[in-house]
Amino acid sequence: MDRFFAVINRAVFKNTLAPCVMRWSRNRWRITLGLCDVKKRVITLNCALDDARVPDMIVASVIHHEMLHLHYGFSESKNGTRRFHTHEFRAAEKVFPGYADSEKWLGQNWPMRGRPAKRRTPENGFLKYLELMTG
Ligand SMILES: [Zn+2]
Repeated sequence: MDRFFAVINRAVFKNTLAPCVMRWSRNRWRITLGLCDVKKRVITLNCALDDARVPDMIVASVIHHEMLHLHYGFSESKNGTRRFHTHEFRAAEKVFPGYADSEKWLGQNWPMRGRPAKRRTPENGFLKYLELMTG
């Protein structure tokens, strides 16, 4: 997980994000993929993603989404509601390599059914690709 953060921080955010705590959720969540506590700088990923059937690309995309929350924080609208997913946020999310493929994969495969498989030590195929894509 920390390796995902480090590679995405370098490749996408030019190392501008200060370190944050990365952890898996205690329980499997039905729908939510990840959460980001912007103030405490904690990213929690659904432990259901900790499954060898889930490609690294998906984990990377979810972490990227949560890292965008660290990057943008939130904007407060006139009536005081916090807006996290601004147009700017969504535009930045879409340029992530693998974003479209991840959305498609999640649409077809999420939530996962059946027994989770133990996640392999990542070969980092996708992270290598990401580093190449972003130079
Ligand atoms: Zn979000």
